[in-house]
Order: sequence, then C-alpha cells, then structure tokens
Amino acid sequence: MDYQELETFFRSLDRSFFVDNGLKEYAALDEPLPIGFGQTISQPSLVLKMTRLLAPEKDSRVLEIGTGSGFQTAILAKMSAQVFTVERIGILMELARKRLAALNFSNIYYKVGDGSIGWREYAPYDRIMVTAAAGVLPDELVSQLAPGGRMVIPIGPPDLQELKLITKTGDGDIYIKTAEMVRFVELKGQYGWI
Ligand code: SAM
Repeated sequence: MDYQELETFFRSLDRSFFVDNGLKEYAALDEPLPIGFGQTISQPSLVLKMTRLLAPEKDSRVLEIGTGSGFQTAILAKMSAQVFTVERIGILMELARKRLAALNFSNIYYKVGDGSIGWREYAPYDRIMVTAAAGVLPDELVSQLAPGGRMVIPIGPPDLQELKLITKTGDGDIYIKTAEMVRFVELKGQYGWI
C-alpha cells in the first residue's frame, strides 16, 4: 500500500460531508459522531489506523461490513480496485451511496443486508474490513477471505473489544494478532449479536 497516498487522501476527505447538518461543526474532532439509528461514524484516527492495518493494494477486492456514513468506504475505494460494502440499515446505505456517488466513485458495490454472513456472490476477497464488533470471529467471513488475504475486525463484548488482524496464508492457514483495544457498535446478525 502507498502510505503517502493514504495520508494525502485521508487529509483531503472532508468528514463534515458524511454527517448531518447539526454535527458538521464537530466533524474535525477526533471523536466518533452519531449518524442516526444508534450508529456512529468512527474516530478518524482509528479509521486511518484500521486502513493501515488492512493494507489494501491497488488491485485488491475489498469487502467492507458496516458502510455507516460511507467515510471508511471512500478511503477503501480510493486505495483499492473494488469495494463490496454491506450495511444492514437501508436508510444509512442510501445516504452513503449518494455521498459516494457525489464523490464520483464508480468502483463501489452496495448491498443492504446481514454482512455477518459476508457477500458470497463475489467472494473471495483480498481484504475484509469489519467496522462493527463481533462476539466471535465469524467463520463465514474467514471462508470468504482469499489466500494471502487480510481481515481487520473488532472482537469482544459490547463495551470493549480487541481489534484483530486476521491473515490467511497461501496454504489457507489462519494467523490472528491483536492490534489494540477499541470500542465499536455491535455487529448484528447471524454471526453477530442478535
Ligand atoms: N465505517 C463506518 C463509517 O465510516 O461511517 C462506521 C460504521 S458504524 C461504527 C457500524 C455500522 O455497522 C453501522 O452502520 C451498523 O448499522 C452496521 N452493521 C452492524 N451490524 C451489521 C451487519 N450484520 N451487517 C451490515 N452492517 C452492520
């Protein structure tokens, strides 16, 4: 991954574009902000860290679970070939889709549904970014990760989780490392919280 390109794009991306009018004045803060439906746009410094950890390449096909505002999606779309993004809340997805279209991204594919089961139709993926917290590592997402692929996912109870980097070797072996402690909203669904 070109870290300089990531930094430059990250700094150029106006976070106020991804939040409601009443919150735009807070967009420059390094804090999560509400986006409705009990969900949040993540802290920008954490979005940057998670993208570095995922390390998408220019030819990567990326699965993102939890589109939210579309802020992280924009960064992934800039840094990779294609992004397949899944969001369970239809209204959030529609708002994100409009924002990302206004930014002229044409390499993003959208699905409203349960992302805890991934998006089998387009699997396998070189990278998987999960931006909601699972109780345990969803087997289905691991199976949709390509050999040589990387997945970033917060795992743990609702109040505090470990941010995990999952790597799959060319032989299909799985390695798991913990990067740091984080606090994300719950990943709902079949392989998430009810
Ligand atoms: N990355 C987003 C951004 O930049 O705005 C923030 C994501 S927010 C922390 C987590 C999102 O995951 C929420 O929008 C929530 O609705 C979504 N979510 C939770 N469980 C999901 C599931 N099973 N499938 C798809 N999306 C899910």
